[in-house]
Amino acid sequence: MRNLLGCTTKELSEFAVELGEKPFRGRQLFKWIYSGERDFDNMTDLSAAFREKLKENAYLGAVSVKYVQRDQKDGTCKLLYGLEDGNAVEGVFMKYKYGNSLCLSSQVGCRMGCRFCASALGGFVRNLTSAEMLEQVYAAERYTGEEINHIVVMGMGEPFDNYENLSGFLNLIHDKNGKNLSFRNITVSTSGLIPMMKRFSEEFPQVNLAISLHRLTNEGRSEIMPINRKYPVDELLAAAREYSENTGRRITFEYTLIKGENDSAADVQLMKKKLAGMLCHINLIPLNKVEETGYDGSSRKRAEEIALELEKHGIAATVRRELGSEIDGACGQLRLHMKDEFEVDAD
Ligand code: SAH
Repeated sequence: MRNLLGCTTKELSEFAVELGEKPFRGRQLFKWIYSGERDFDNMTDLSAAFREKLKENAYLGAVSVKYVQRDQKDGTCKLLYGLEDGNAVEGVFMKYKYGNSLCLSSQVGCRMGCRFCASALGGFVRNLTSAEMLEQVYAAERYTGEEINHIVVMGMGEPFDNYENLSGFLNLIHDKNGKNLSFRNITVSTSGLIPMMKRFSEEFPQVNLAISLHRLTNEGRSEIMPINRKYPVDELLAAAREYSENTGRRITFEYTLIKGENDSAADVQLMKKKLAGMLCHINLIPLNKVEETGYDGSSRKRAEEIALELEKHGIAATVRRELGSEIDGACGQLRLHMKDEFEVDAD
């Protein structure tokens, strides 16, 4: 059985020919698959005989919603997706004034080992396929009954450590014969894999880039983000500057505020000094406490003080709206806490 999810028009045309059909059937299949249809029987412009052949030889599968935590106050849904091999990843569906947004995962686990992050705790398991990234979007739409207009690749995993599949996913979700999602409505977040940032700026100049900064001293950043030993923070900032010069795009820096680690007056001084004059926006996010890591988040009051001070200095900064504060909002937390109860069904 062949999984047709994640296939390009060319691959679908070749498959149609293998099943004795004309190549243009591939285009028809493409439209159905990427408009979200998952039942071959509903693909009404395909002949009944072809639909039977499809059912015998192919399927459309990748992920299913296994468990949902819903924040009653703001409608945020944290979704636990089950994969075909029994692994699980997470996504977060959020409602904003400007539309619905989904935060999705790019890997099962993560290799980056950030000390404060729940995704790092179980280590790296495997990359997600393009189909598995795509289906997180369609499965969330099916579950919520709402359309997703914005995507952030900020769930579990390091997207630039899975570049090829990320790239396949971005091209498929953007395809005009499919969901036709604008690249400008997509944000990819990286912990700072510099060579991939460069490639990304050439191949996807319209997709928004976010960089997880979290600390600006070299030693300090290496302590909480081991990837900094390979790609030191000053080189990362130089690459970020180059990125916005080349693309004309504003970069988002994520700065997770950890109490007593990166929220002191000296830390703010360093932000002012090192980010001055850059085309950027700083997103301050009080850390979501993950018991197992021993770190705690700064208070919202401290986050707001820092934002104000940066703003006064001409650096755009916001404190992220606390969506889903009642649920395990940070990446990897739900999976971590669901390990024993994974079989709970959402439907
Ligand atoms: N690997 C990518 C994308 C996934 S993480 C990256 O590092 O950017 C998405 C964001 O959530 C990152 O900025 C990450 O550092 C942050 N994060 C991880 N654990 C968190 C927690 N417990 N509380 C708040 N933010 C967290």
